[in-house]
Amino acid sequence: MHNASTDYNSQQAAVQNVTILGATGTIGVQTLEVISQHPQRFKVFALTASTNVNSLFKLCKKHTPQYAVMLDANAATELTAQLKDANVGTIVLQGEHALSEVAAHESVDVVMAAIVGAAGLHPAMAAAKAGKRILLANKETLVMAGNLFMQAVADGGATLLPIDSEHNAIFQVMPSVKRENLADSGVKRVLLTASGGPFRNASLAELQAVTRAQALNHPNWVMGPKITIDSATMMNKGLEVIEAHWLFNAAPSQIDVVIHPQSIIHSMVEYIDGSVLAQLGNPDMRTPIAYGLGYPDRLHSGVSGLDLVKIGRLDFSEPDPIRFPCLRLAYEALKVGGTAPAILNAANEIAVEAFLAEEIGFMDIHAIIESVLLASQIDAVTSIEQLVAVDASARRAAKDWLKHKYSSMPAQTLKVVIK
Ligand code: NAD
Ligand code: MG
Repeated sequence: MHNASTDYNSQQAAVQNVTILGATGTIGVQTLEVISQHPQRFKVFALTASTNVNSLFKLCKKHTPQYAVMLDANAATELTAQLKDANVGTIVLQGEHALSEVAAHESVDVVMAAIVGAAGLHPAMAAAKAGKRILLANKETLVMAGNLFMQAVADGGATLLPIDSEHNAIFQVMPSVKRENLADSGVKRVLLTASGGPFRNASLAELQAVTRAQALNHPNWVMGPKITIDSATMMNKGLEVIEAHWLFNAAPSQIDVVIHPQSIIHSMVEYIDGSVLAQLGNPDMRTPIAYGLGYPDRLHSGVSGLDLVKIGRLDFSEPDPIRFPCLRLAYEALKVGGTAPAILNAANEIAVEAFLAEEIGFMDIHAIIESVLLASQIDAVTSIEQLVAVDASARRAAKDWLKHKYSSMPAQTLKVVIK
């Protein structure tokens, strides 16, 4: 075991209070694993979850945060009782508003935003406005509300550190002075790597017959169910293209996707002089999490060292837009702009839920999203309230699709262009 005092620079750093939104999820739990290795540096201030009382109870017992938030009221009552029985002094709060409260609380230094889906938007915005150090795993926040969120980060004086492994890699290989303005930075393009998911080599016919269990079996990463299905459809990479656009101010034409099945290179930046810088490592989210927690210091993460000789080879290929139409849809939504990415995101969340409930087939997912996008009015983004309404109406349209099982839409492209 290493000792926290061996961390580069850790002696100078003061103890930081951390709120983990989505603490019971795969990112939340891995964040706590990293934090546990650095007790002199981090203190857990608040942990949140939606309904999973038993998991949050165990985490509270172990990390004794000041606050625990349950989205669900019954779950909050149950957690309060369990903590009382176990003599744990954590105060339980309940409801959506409490998520934002513990994200923006004046005692908090660092917020890990690891709620899944659009539900993560409000607390991430609250953390941004309150000027926190935000470790952003919840990519849906940027997909839905990229311009408003980046503005809130700037206005609130927050520090935004991307945790998604690809964006974390890009962040690591892009000098900080250049990140603000890609156009003047000598960056030619960013290259997001993608594992290709479990169906990288599947034929179209095989994709039609994919089961829930097959889709949940990701070759390289252990993740929550929603992002695992997104990885299988490659919508995850699509959402990441939009995420990269906002984080690095990159035009759609400056963001490329390359299939790299080993998931060792986590992404790359190509410069105008021909240099390509990459960040490599074993596929383990504790690396980007530790980077975000420690930045600009490097912390021990618990991840084993990379053995390139054992890995032997790294492969690369182009993504196939025919078998993975979700990637194309995300690029189109980004190019159209305005509310299109929020509509794409909402329709995707409903489609993925329906696939996980075994109500639709794998190749219905993109059909639903495309159909909702084509049927929706797309406007310029003006406010969070507007986006919440757009999200709700896209969800209703997707649910309508499920009720009536429309056949796949003919191939068309979105034509409206919003500036
Ligand atoms: P997960 O499903 O494992 O966990 C989700 C967490 O969010 C849980 O704690 C759950 O209680 C909470 N939650 C769910 N719905 C909620 C709601 N409506 N309100 C409040 N809390 C709610 O998900 P995950 O895999 O940890 O992913 C979390 C986020 O991080 C996602 O946005 C995902 O895209 C992103 N991400 C994950 C990984 C990964 O390796 N898992 C990698 C990159 C990015
Ligand atoms: Mg990723």
